[in-house]
Amino acid sequence: MPMSRRVLPIVLGLAALALAGCGGPGGGKGKVLNLYTARHYDADQSIYDAFTKKTGIKVRWLEMAAPQLIERVKAEGAASPADVILVADAGSLWRAEQAGLLQKVDAPELDKRIPAGSRDPDGTWWAVSRRARVIAYDRAKVKPQDVATYESLTRPAFKGGLCMRSSDNEYNLSLMASFIAHWGKAKALDWAKGVVANFARPPQAGDIDQIRAVGAGACRATLTNTYYYLRLAASPAAEDKRAVAAVALAFPEQAGVGTHVNISGGGVAAHAPNKANAIAFLNFLASDEAQRIFAEGNHEFPAVPSVKSPPDVAAISAFKADDLSLSALGEHQAEAQNLYNQAGWR
Ligand code: FE
Repeated sequence: MPMSRRVLPIVLGLAALALAGCGGPGGGKGKVLNLYTARHYDADQSIYDAFTKKTGIKVRWLEMAAPQLIERVKAEGAASPADVILVADAGSLWRAEQAGLLQKVDAPELDKRIPAGSRDPDGTWWAVSRRARVIAYDRAKVKPQDVATYESLTRPAFKGGLCMRSSDNEYNLSLMASFIAHWGKAKALDWAKGVVANFARPPQAGDIDQIRAVGAGACRATLTNTYYYLRLAASPAAEDKRAVAAVALAFPEQAGVGTHVNISGGGVAAHAPNKANAIAFLNFLASDEAQRIFAEGNHEFPAVPSVKSPPDVAAISAFKADDLSLSALGEHQAEAQNLYNQAGWR
C-alpha cells in the first residue's frame, strides 16, 4: 500500500471533521455521519456514495490503522465526533468494544440480516463482510496435499521457502489467536517457531507483496486473505496476471476445524453525536446494495448469506469455515503477540 493513499484520507478526513465541528446549530448536523474506519479499500468510497445518494446523509470519514484509531477515539472521550467505528479484523473490533468505544444499540434489522456467529450477542457490533486467511503456494513446486493444514507450513520441506508479513499485523494476530483457542499456547508457539524456521526472508510488507513474492519464485508459500489474491486475479497488469498464474490458494483444515475466517465489522460509537444516522449507515452496510459492493468491489465474502457473490468470489466460497467464536479471536490477542515475539517472528 503506497503511503500516499494512507495519509491523504486522514488529512482530508481531519479537515472534514473540523468543518463538522464548526457547523453549529442549523449546520446540518442531522445530515452527517462521521465514520472512523480502519478499512483500507478503494471500493468503500462507492459504498459511502451510495449511502449518501440514498439517504442524503453526508459521510465524513477518517481512515487510519486500527490501533491508532482506537487510541484516538479513547483520547477524544465523550467529545469524540465518531458516529460509527469500522475495522477490518475481529480482534480489533473486540479491542474497541473492550475499551468501551462502542455502544449497545437496538437494531433488529441488522440482527435479522447478519447471522448470530457474525455479530456481538450484546448488540455492540456486526460483521459487514467475511474473509478467509489461506495459504497461497507455488503451483509448480508445491502440491495441494502439502498445504492442507496450517501446520504443514512448519514442515522441513518448506525450509527457506516461506514469505510472511509481520506478526503485529491484525490478520496474523487473529489467526494466531484461533490457534491458541484450538490448540493451546504450547502448540501455537511451536507453530510460530516452525514457520520462523522456514522463513525465506525477514517479515515485510503486506499480503499482496507476499503473493507476488511467491509468484516471482522468492518463496514457495505464504498466508494471505482471500480478497488480495482475487484482487490480483482481477488486475489487468501483466505482472499480476503472471503472479496469479503461478500461485494457487489452499484452504487449510478442510479435514479438521475448517479454514480461519475473519470479518470486517463495526458498531455505533459510544458518544455518537448522530446516533440515528449511525444505525442507518450500519443498516445500509448490511443491505443487498452495499453487500454487493463489498463482494464485487473488494472481493470479500458477503456477511449476509442471501446475497449472491460475483463469480470470482463464488468460485472460492465452497469451503469449510472455522466456526470459532469471533470473541475468542479478541480474547487471545495479547497472548498471540506474546507467542509471536517468543518465536522471533517480528
Ligand atoms: Fe485488508
